[in-house]
Amino acid sequence: MIDKELKEKKDCMGCHACENICPTNSTSMETDEEGFLYPSVDYSLCIKCNKCANVCPIINRKQVFNDPIAYSCINNDEKIRLDSSSGGIFTLIAEQVIDQGGVVFGASFNNEFEVEHSFVETKRILWKLRGSKYVQSKIGDSYKQAKEFLQSGREVLFTGTPCQIAGLKNFLGESYTNLFMIDIICHGVPSPDVWRKYVKFREKFAGSPAKRIAFRRKDDGWKQYSVLFLFKNNTEYLQNLRKDLYMRAFLKDVCLRPSCYHCKFKGLNRQSDITLADFWGIQNILPEMNDDKGTSLLFINSKAGQVLFDEIKDGMMYQEVDIQEAVKYNSAAIKSVHFNPKRDAFMSEKDNLPFDKLVNKYCTDPCRQVVKSTFKDISDVI
Ligand SMILES: Cc1cc2nc3c(=O)[nH]c(=O)nc-3n(C[C@H](O)[C@H](O)[C@H](O)COP(=O)(O)OP(=O)(O)OC[C@H]3O[C@@H](n4cnc5c(N)ncnc54)[C@H](O)[C@@H]3O)c2cc1C
Repeated sequence: MIDKELKEKKDCMGCHACENICPTNSTSMETDEEGFLYPSVDYSLCIKCNKCANVCPIINRKQVFNDPIAYSCINNDEKIRLDSSSGGIFTLIAEQVIDQGGVVFGASFNNEFEVEHSFVETKRILWKLRGSKYVQSKIGDSYKQAKEFLQSGREVLFTGTPCQIAGLKNFLGESYTNLFMIDIICHGVPSPDVWRKYVKFREKFAGSPAKRIAFRRKDDGWKQYSVLFLFKNNTEYLQNLRKDLYMRAFLKDVCLRPSCYHCKFKGLNRQSDITLADFWGIQNILPEMNDDKGTSLLFINSKAGQVLFDEIKDGMMYQEVDIQEAVKYNSAAIKSVHFNPKRDAFMSEKDNLPFDKLVNKYCTDPCRQVVKSTFKDISDVI
């Protein structure tokens, strides 16, 4: 069973494939003291079919060999681009799938501003999935839901972190011609519990519940992005990424999931059809595509990815780039972040200290990214 076969807890990246595949609902995801979800088996219901272990992308790792092509891309729709984290390419692809009668899965906020995967079938509410949410997204039942749509013949676009895409592929167990998968270049995912504490901290400070949150506002440009909270009492909090308390903790790597420090899904051989990322370093590679409103780095990883790209390319400005050059400025594509020796102390004190004191205690020395940025513009800021 998954709880016995997974050698170490820190190997689990919380993809939910084991929970989704369990025929008796005996495998469920439970939150640990750090706020991350891990599988737990109820042996009074378990029929010992071992599907939970057989589906795990860590226990059964797939090697993929593809020859990705990289592009620099900018969505022609400036409004969508400004509302997106990088060049707004996710929305362009998602709209194409919806136009063909398809359904799009991705990370959204629920009413409590927790991050979870959900699906969208109309362009009107695509905004829910737009924008990076720097919290581990809960997959929930979405693999099962995607499979139902696929079996009914609908086109499905499933987006997520590379480990979530690996979980989906293992869960499905077979390929579908009506499935498209997009992964992002992922720095690592922070604890939902640390995020919840931060939302409470901001709401207390504002004296009002939040009504809207965005991690990547471009008011001061794409590279110097800001975190925004709008509150129900019509007050607003807008802070630069380097000063926002939550972003400081994220960038210092003190609250990431343990598996993110030795991620098994890094590299250029990806399981998705298309990979999306920020094109950090664009000013050095293609200065004409650097207007500080957001430029996406896109990898085409498969034939299905090429088909999707050909369908949307008229809606964007794009240029092919050397993939090795591009990832020089985006180390998260190929390597995991270093383990911060203060991480475990930060996590064990998160329930005892107010959020500002917690971050100021553990994240005071300059971020690695800040030091780097003084040398070569701002690269690798997530
Ligand atoms: C946790 C995290 C870490 C990242 N780290 C890097 C990095 O190190 N380097 C880099 O270049 N890019 C990173 N990105 C990706 C980048 O921020 C953009 O999401 C990406 O460039 C797509 O931008 P876009 O403008 O095309 O679309 P957007 O509309 O901005 O992106 C929306 C897409 O992001 C997905 N998404 C949002 N939040 C999550 C989440 N919590 N979990 C899974 N999927 C999510 C949505 O499902 C949707 O597919 C990261 C994103 C996240 C969520």
